[in-house]
Amino acid sequence: MTLPSTPSGLRRTLRPTAKVLPEHARSHNRSLVLQSLFHAGPSSRADLSRETGLTRVTISDLVAELIGDGLLSELGAKPGSRVGKPATLVGLRHQSKHILAVDLSDEDRLCGAVVDLSGAILERRDVALAGLTGDAAVALVIQLCLDLVALTDRPLLGVGVATPGLVDADGVVLQAPNLGWNAVPLAHLLGEALSLPVHVANDANTAALGEFTFGDAGEHGLMLVRVGKGVGAGLLLEGALLAGQHLAAGEIGHMTVDERGDECACGRTGCLETVISAPALRHALEGQDEAGARKVLTRAGRYLGTTIAPIISALDLREVVLSGPPELLGGPLLDTALGVLRRRCMPVVGEDVDLRMPALGEDVVLTGAAVLVLSGQLGVS
Ligand SMILES: [Zn+2]
Repeated sequence: MTLPSTPSGLRRTLRPTAKVLPEHARSHNRSLVLQSLFHAGPSSRADLSRETGLTRVTISDLVAELIGDGLLSELGAKPGSRVGKPATLVGLRHQSKHILAVDLSDEDRLCGAVVDLSGAILERRDVALAGLTGDAAVALVIQLCLDLVALTDRPLLGVGVATPGLVDADGVVLQAPNLGWNAVPLAHLLGEALSLPVHVANDANTAALGEFTFGDAGEHGLMLVRVGKGVGAGLLLEGALLAGQHLAAGEIGHMTVDERGDECACGRTGCLETVISAPALRHALEGQDEAGARKVLTRAGRYLGTTIAPIISALDLREVVLSGPPELLGGPLLDTALGVLRRRCMPVVGEDVDLRMPALGEDVVLTGAAVLVLSGQLGVS
């Protein structure tokens, strides 16, 4: 028996979470073509046929349709074509549509960007949260989006929002204590206000998607730990984000690390968040000299490593990414946590494990928010 081979440019696709039905075949095939061009760059129709496994006739038809939609353009003859009619390259028009990307996970600011279809950030805007919660915070998100709309003259593919908290598949924020949100239908509210498709997801999950699609990570699984006002993680396993029974997979911030520790926003004491959230770290670093600061960050790294080592070990992961303020996370905290992982995980896992900052730096959340839209609207990831 021979297993079907996966075309190389499509190997990194996120696994579809629903069965492909016959009536969806055409949009599925469109996605295959866009996905191939997104990763491999300009290709001839023959290359696309080889890459996607679709017939030349189907490819010609889909390419014509996508050119008609403005998403693709012909780019001239393929270099190195031999005698005879040279093959014509087609490629994605990265500026044909823009995406609004919004990150609500920062301590005291809402951040937004206009992003093109290649994931490049073109414009940025942010606004002080100024302690707003509930409806007032929703109104501020809408205002930020309207400000971003005014910065581009291109048609918009949609809006991607990364928010802290638990988010369901319909973009309802079930719980985001830091924003005072309970069962807020954020995707619906923004969609009504902006008349655009809106995709909302948890910030750590969003960052994991950003690192997967644009940081070239996670082909064999990825844990991304996001440290902001809160602490959470995104788990990408075998090409899909893990959601969990309560949509709380990866929510490591409220695991108890010290029963005699500080009081947490959730009402308990000694959660991981009370030790390694950005505000907790800043508070602990106040007035410390260099040696004192190193001690604070080393202790936080030890708590982080101890908390995630069993998860890394149980899932047999190799890539772990730590996203958040680099000045807090990038030094002794990361080094200590990696040392703990190496010591505590089963040797075959621990020897190989890598803990690093995101390839995309702090932009990983905004870029991930763009992936929510690319994936949701075009099937590209
Ligand atoms: Zn807590």
